[in-house]
Amino acid sequence: MNIHEFQAKELMRQYGVPVPAGGVAHSVEQAEAVAEELGVSRFVVKAQIHAGGRGKAGGVRLAHTVEEVHAATDEMIGRPLITAQTGPQGQRVQRVLIEQAVDIAREAYFGLVIDRASQRITIIACDGGGVEIEETARKEPARILREAVDPAVGLLDFQCRKVAAHLGLGGKQLPAAVKLMKALYRCFRDNDAVLIEVNPLAVTLDGQLLALDAKMQFDDNAIYRRPHVSNLRDFDEEDPKEVEAGAHGLNYIALEGNVGCIVNGAGLAMATMDAIALHGGRPANFLDVGGGASPEKVTNAFRIVLLDKNVKAVLVNIFAGINRCDWVAEGIVRAMRELKVKVPVVVRLAGTNVEQGRAVLAQSGLKFLTANNLDAAAAMAVRATSGASAHEHIY
Ligand code: GDP
Ligand code: MN
Repeated sequence: MNIHEFQAKELMRQYGVPVPAGGVAHSVEQAEAVAEELGVSRFVVKAQIHAGGRGKAGGVRLAHTVEEVHAATDEMIGRPLITAQTGPQGQRVQRVLIEQAVDIAREAYFGLVIDRASQRITIIACDGGGVEIEETARKEPARILREAVDPAVGLLDFQCRKVAAHLGLGGKQLPAAVKLMKALYRCFRDNDAVLIEVNPLAVTLDGQLLALDAKMQFDDNAIYRRPHVSNLRDFDEEDPKEVEAGAHGLNYIALEGNVGCIVNGAGLAMATMDAIALHGGRPANFLDVGGGASPEKVTNAFRIVLLDKNVKAVLVNIFAGINRCDWVAEGIVRAMRELKVKVPVVVRLAGTNVEQGRAVLAQSGLKFLTANNLDAAAAMAVRATSGASAHEHIY
């Protein structure tokens, strides 16, 4: 789960991370009020969307007066912001963060991630931060320092000093840098984060260290024990189909193609998507119904897949171990009836109760395309998207 910059900064502030003074606004009136309350002579107006790359896309603006804050807010709120990370349709801006602008002497990058290889929270630091970080990482990888933290002892001072030295932070900035890194580490660990990114970590002209941007991601499997984090969820930033699927215990990821996929198991789902691609098609989604899928769950899976109007055919690929093909078949039949499915449906069933499953389909009197293996099923589904399929196997 992702949260907004203003939420991440609020969380970080609670851990003692220095962040600029500011406040969030949902309207131009609120933006003016926040600016007046700040009572400073320079402001930054920042579009609050989960995607990054806002600076280059006009989503971060400097303002010198309350009127300019008003104007910048007016241009952002209610409109889509298209950044390198949003896709071409952009993401609608619902709120902005108004902050006191600071004079930046230098921008560094500071991140915390979970490194799966070492199984440790790992610092990623680069002395050159800011909007060109991707470019820097690609061209000058040696400027990026990684420092893994031993979970038994936590982040130690010497490690912070090593990272600070790499970032060129010495003198009176050194203790501030150590304090900031430890605070971010605690913020990461205490909240079950999987990512913290402070880019830029700014050194101001008067020598202060400041988290000028803040991104946080959390472990979805730990959210249940962090209600203060789950309260920060913004459903407007998520695909509504993915939200609904989550509520039904389905793993659904929306994609760009036109073959709807209903599969059990993430590995089989990946293989199914590959097979579709191999036959020249493109999957419309990734959907894993999991093990022990009830007929209701399969019906819900159909409903969610068919919410995507790009779907021109559905491929059901079940390799039943814990699952039962008859339950899956019942779910398919129910979905076809309740949802009045118009697109061709290709079904490939294998494993537990496969004969009973096929019987359920056959006795339904409905039309399906069926195949006995994944390759044939994928080919059939891709062909069906072009409307070219006569119903090859009709029960
Ligand atoms: P991102 O592009 O979505 O990562 O948004 P950021 O919050 O990182 O802002 C982009 C850039 O705007 C930063 O790298 C800074 O260079 C600049 N910026 C942000 N806040 C300030 C500020 O208070 N003063 C100045 N001078 N620049 C700022
Ligand atoms: Mn940034």
